[in-house]
Amino acid sequence: MERYNAKTLEKGHTFSCRACEAEVSSSFVNLGMTPPCQNHVEPENVNLHEVYYPLHAYLCDSCMLVQLDEYVSPDEIFSDYAYFSSYSTSWVEHAGRYVDMAVDRFGLGSESQVYEIASNDGYLLQHFVSKHIPCTGVEPAANVAEAAIAKNIPTEVVFFGTESANLLAKKYGLADLILGNNVLAHVPKLNDFIGGMKLLLKPDGVITMEFPHLLQLMKNNQYDTIYHEHFSYLAFFVVVNTFAKHGLDVFDVEVLPTHGGSIRIFAQHQDGPREISANVGAMLELEQEYGLFEPEVYQLFAAQVRNSKRRLLEFLIKAHDQGKSVAAYGAPGKGNTLLNYCGIGTDLIEYTVDLSPHKNGRYTPGSRIPIFHPDRIRETKPDFILILPWNLEKEITQQLEYIREWGGQCVVPIPEVRLCAQ
Ligand SMILES: [Zn+2]
Repeated sequence: MERYNAKTLEKGHTFSCRACEAEVSSSFVNLGMTPPCQNHVEPENVNLHEVYYPLHAYLCDSCMLVQLDEYVSPDEIFSDYAYFSSYSTSWVEHAGRYVDMAVDRFGLGSESQVYEIASNDGYLLQHFVSKHIPCTGVEPAANVAEAAIAKNIPTEVVFFGTESANLLAKKYGLADLILGNNVLAHVPKLNDFIGGMKLLLKPDGVITMEFPHLLQLMKNNQYDTIYHEHFSYLAFFVVVNTFAKHGLDVFDVEVLPTHGGSIRIFAQHQDGPREISANVGAMLELEQEYGLFEPEVYQLFAAQVRNSKRRLLEFLIKAHDQGKSVAAYGAPGKGNTLLNYCGIGTDLIEYTVDLSPHKNGRYTPGSRIPIFHPDRIRETKPDFILILPWNLEKEITQQLEYIREWGGQCVVPIPEVRLCAQ
């Protein structure tokens, strides 16, 4: 009996591109099977199975969008979300600086209407509320939306798209500003989402979106930012082209240090009032120089990732061979991709710690590493602490300065395993 269908195996999996609807079949990187990264396992379930899904990113040869197929339904991912943005102080500060910039640059005031899509627990909109600028949050996860409502931030519990945009427009009016931080990449129906923003925007309104930049992901080997929640891996030129299809012009772009290299784009209706900044052309050129317009550079990524996995395992194995103890810091989505892809469990990392009370006492998905309060570090004095949210390296190494008392050292896994300067 034939064990597999050779033709299917050769052709592999195909699905329709979420930006241009062409058939997608080129592999970008295959990270194996992992459970959804935000489902931290409760102690009573620790002996039960978890559902694993493929974590395989593909490239659309037609529009060059790097993407996952929709393995996990958005309802499963986002309806009870464990990530409360307010637990990251640097993220709340970043939001405060954004609001100051937006109010100043777009002249927002008490007559304006601001929408934030994926407003989480109100970490950002609270800054508009304190400036008396009308704002509405749109957040599909009821548990985090409740935290925002408790802070008197009007929040609608709904997935954003053309349908909800029409309802929002009727209830609160059209937008002077629509913003979305780390949402564009998480949207399964990209065209319906962008179409919704087009509908909700005033003729002279502005859209700003922040998202991790594919250029940085590839340059800095950030494969652990690939997870099921994160459907698209966005190059600037792909976003410009996709917005243009919906009658929206990207008129400016900025590089941000958040999340290890994000960009913020500014868009308006086609032929809107603002000039197209020189930053737009410069960013397109940067992407073209790196080779993002052609498929060849994408084909090199998988080998780079496999190499980085071997270096990390080598470090951890050597540490254990020398009788050193290793713990981790944080239980972010990216950490779960890294731990599962590299096959790291309590054999190599004894435990991790996290400030979020929603994660304490639980276990990391798949890898089943226990998550404790950060006090555990002082109690057990590990020799090495692997910082899983490496984008917060500075903030975390400062918090952990005291580990020097016993000669402890922080380590980051990305782009390559490295001891942190302390
Ligand atoms: Zn495409």
